Amino acid sequence: MIVGGSLVGMSTALLLGHHGIRALAVEHHRGTAIHPRAAQISQRTMEVFRTVGVEQIVRRESDKQFVQDGAINAVESLAGKEIAAYIPNLNDGVRDVSPTIRLFITQSLLEPLLKQRAQELGAELRFGTEMISCEQDADGVTATIRDRDSGRTEAVRARYLVAADGARSTLRERLGIPMLGHGTFSNSITIYFRGDLGPLLRGRNLSVIYITNPELRGFFRLEKPFDRGFLVVNAVGDPAHPVTDVSAGLSDEKCIAYIRCAIGDDQVPITIENVMHWNARADVAEHLRAGRIFLAGDAAHVMPPNGGFGGNTGVQDAHNLAWKLAMVLKGQAGAELLASYEPERRSAAAFTVEQAYSRYVTRSAPYLGTEGMQPVENDLNIELGYCYYSDAIIPDSDERPAHLNPRESRGRPGTRAPHVWLRRGSEQLSTLDLFGGNFTMLAGPEGSSWCEAAREAAAQTGIELDIHRLETQGALADPERAFPAAYGITPGGAVLVRPDGFVAWRAQSAERASAPQLSGALTSILCRKA
Ligand SMILES: Cc1cc2nc3c(=O)[nH]c(=O)nc-3n(C[C@H](O)[C@H](O)[C@H](O)COP(=O)(O)OP(=O)(O)OC[C@H]3O[C@@H](n4cnc5c(N)ncnc54)[C@H](O)[C@@H]3O)c2cc1C
Repeated sequence: MIVGGSLVGMSTALLLGHHGIRALAVEHHRGTAIHPRAAQISQRTMEVFRTVGVEQIVRRESDKQFVQDGAINAVESLAGKEIAAYIPNLNDGVRDVSPTIRLFITQSLLEPLLKQRAQELGAELRFGTEMISCEQDADGVTATIRDRDSGRTEAVRARYLVAADGARSTLRERLGIPMLGHGTFSNSITIYFRGDLGPLLRGRNLSVIYITNPELRGFFRLEKPFDRGFLVVNAVGDPAHPVTDVSAGLSDEKCIAYIRCAIGDDQVPITIENVMHWNARADVAEHLRAGRIFLAGDAAHVMPPNGGFGGNTGVQDAHNLAWKLAMVLKGQAGAELLASYEPERRSAAAFTVEQAYSRYVTRSAPYLGTEGMQPVENDLNIELGYCYYSDAIIPDSDERPAHLNPRESRGRPGTRAPHVWLRRGSEQLSTLDLFGGNFTMLAGPEGSSWCEAAREAAAQTGIELDIHRLETQGALADPERAFPAAYGITPGGAVLVRPDGFVAWRAQSAERASAPQLSGALTSILCRKA
């Protein structure tokens, strides 16, 4: 069962469906998102969408809404001078690391696409339904849910529960799990408005436009054809001693004044559509699990939107958790596999939260100071380079970097398996297209002994394994012979990749290829009794 059917709850339902588990998700709201909210989608999230068959439709819909490959920069005002260029082109210098791209699509457009696919895969989504209480025992969770329209209540029994109930998670509160971090640093607002800002863009392709001037700090995001969008306001007044409670005493006149200040033009007619109030904070839950209940998304970590990481991090929680729940529920893994969720996702989330905070301070709130702030890391490390350490990974080195540049992780256990273009007949596909269902063994061109061992290990353990030897020619070919170097192995080596596309185990060469080696590795990764 999933509580919350927004971006993260919906993604969890979709990913569980992909692994053959029919989940029930309950959502308080009567439908999918009505506000645009999150829009910057990372390559990693697009890779997840590719696995579940929605990448192409997301790309098409994104095209309708945003100009692709926009810049992220800072200006004094839309009409005023440029201050900084953080990312000159969203996809420059990152296209080689993934079969897909970064893009923008608003939650209001994305969620219906995820909903449709989740339902196709068997998820039961109940909107206008809230969870009002929940108890857990040794075998499962019993939740009471209420239909908001009829008032009818019902008890639901589930083996596990995913709390994707957002930043104000009542489930997290009931479990008594504290949030740790920087706390709240602004009561911010998002003003949704209409107004023809196209001429002020002066032909610039801008995806996110930070505004920094003596009166206001925040950012714009504008949709095609640049006659609507939103302005986030984080702080107003003296930059050294700003007013950070922007939310208090708000009126339409004040909102229009903020927009005029941010565009630097008094003439453009502006209509306010809506205002959202939210806390800018940077915190991670002390624990992501209590027994049979798992926290995911904003329930587990809250970060300022600077960097566009919040929703993406939640989708990665869902991606990490779904295959583990599925394998445990199908009896293919020991229940202890679920213990790996917290160490893997909490450290990735903590790193990401700090990076969002660092971007908030450097881009919008220098008054907070750099003490205790982590240096700003490359966005690629945040999106694709976080490293996992848990019992579901068998390391082959003593080093424990928190993150790596994805061009340098090279198949190291605990990192995302790298993208290499392959050929199957006339079709071009990525190594990433081989992952997502079962565990996958990829062997180098001289790794036939590993393939043989993998077939035996699969038969011995009853674990379904997809096994591929990547030769220069053949049914599945690595024409450039790029695979061994990309995965840090010799042509006789092999890697075992988890259903979430993370390398779980690696052998540099064919030297010790044997079925017992692999059976042992699988038994250990899946926390099965030997
Ligand atoms: C201005 C702004 C811009 C942003 N831009 C980006 C971006 O570009 N990229 C990005 O990745 N992130 C972005 N974010 C962050 C992103 O919006 C959030 O991280 C994301 O929406 C979190 O999704 P969630 O599903 O975890 O939580 P939520 O979206 O908060 O959903 C929780 C859901 O749970 C439901 N719920 C709660 N309690 C119950 C209950 N008891 N029973 C039933 N339902 C319940 C709620 O109704 C709600 O729909 C942005 C945030 C803001 C404020």
